[in-house]
Amino acid sequence: MNISILGAGAMGSLFGGLLAESGQRVTLLDINDAHLAVIREQGLRLVTDSGDRRIRGLTACRPEQASGHPDLLLVFTKTLHTEQALASIAAHLAGHTRVLSLQNGLGNAETLFRHVAPEQVLIGMTTWPADLHGPGHVESHGLGVVRVFSADGVERPACAEVATVLDAAGLRCVADADVWAAIWEKVAFNAALNSLCAVTGCAVGQLAAVPQGPELARAVVQEVLAVARAEGIAVDPRHCLASVADAIAQHRTHKPSMLQDVLAGRPTEIGSINGEVVARARRAGIAVPRTEMLLGLLRLVEARAREA
Ligand code: NAD
Repeated sequence: MNISILGAGAMGSLFGGLLAESGQRVTLLDINDAHLAVIREQGLRLVTDSGDRRIRGLTACRPEQASGHPDLLLVFTKTLHTEQALASIAAHLAGHTRVLSLQNGLGNAETLFRHVAPEQVLIGMTTWPADLHGPGHVESHGLGVVRVFSADGVERPACAEVATVLDAAGLRCVADADVWAAIWEKVAFNAALNSLCAVTGCAVGQLAAVPQGPELARAVVQEVLAVARAEGIAVDPRHCLASVADAIAQHRTHKPSMLQDVLAGRPTEIGSINGEVVARARRAGIAVPRTEMLLGLLRLVEARAREA
């Protein structure tokens, strides 16, 4: 399969590298010239539990230099950059191109619908972790899974085909008609822990320093899942609350990506996580006061960083 990855940072490089290793033709599209140059000249250094290796044979270029029409476009920019990134590869997309977002947050399918026909859009979530350690160098440790399905809920052969290709690359992927429940549960997890850590500067485990930390996280999860249920999504609060409790107990020093963005003075993905939840809650007439408070506080933190 001819696969392009739009946004070849931590996750895009992990997925692109593993897909290339499994025999797929992969093009990495990014605007980070230093990262692209190292991949072109030395290959992609990928460090996983399977070893430390360099993956050669990847095409790596800026989006406007993309040629041909991929069978699959995998979108892995941060959500606030998706619109601009997709606009820059409009000529690269054909009627047969399937476009898959595994980004965190809500609103990703709607963004893709503005660029390709709804039946071309696949949506999903992944629990694989990845970090960019420098230009051309990505690391990922531990195990994850991927769930994908058609964004409009209609089962099409492309769902199984794409799942098979990702699974064959070792990404443990299934086509799952209940993918929206998994997406919402991850949104609830991130709306609670990512934003709480980003606002307070706490690592995940430090939220347990006072009882209010875990209590607030649990309350945000309940708010988000109430909005999911109002949209007709059959979410499982017990599963999500257990994941939050496990993360607080086990990931004592982990700094979520939103906190890392704050520390680096970068804008965060809060708009597609707490921001989307608050917007949907308003439409459904549901109060989500803690989720909204965290959104406002993080917007203030971002504004202060812009002024600095
Ligand atoms: P990242 O910042 O490492 O990578 C994003 C890449 O997009 C960067 O390399 C950036 O240069 C590129 N980019 C920005 N604008 C672009 C444009 N206009 N055209 C092309 N490329 C552009 O982010 P990441 O950690 O890989 O996360 C990507 C998505 O995956 C996010 O939605 C994140 O929430 C989600 N996610 C991340 C992880 C993780 O462990 N890192 C896990 C699950 C999901």
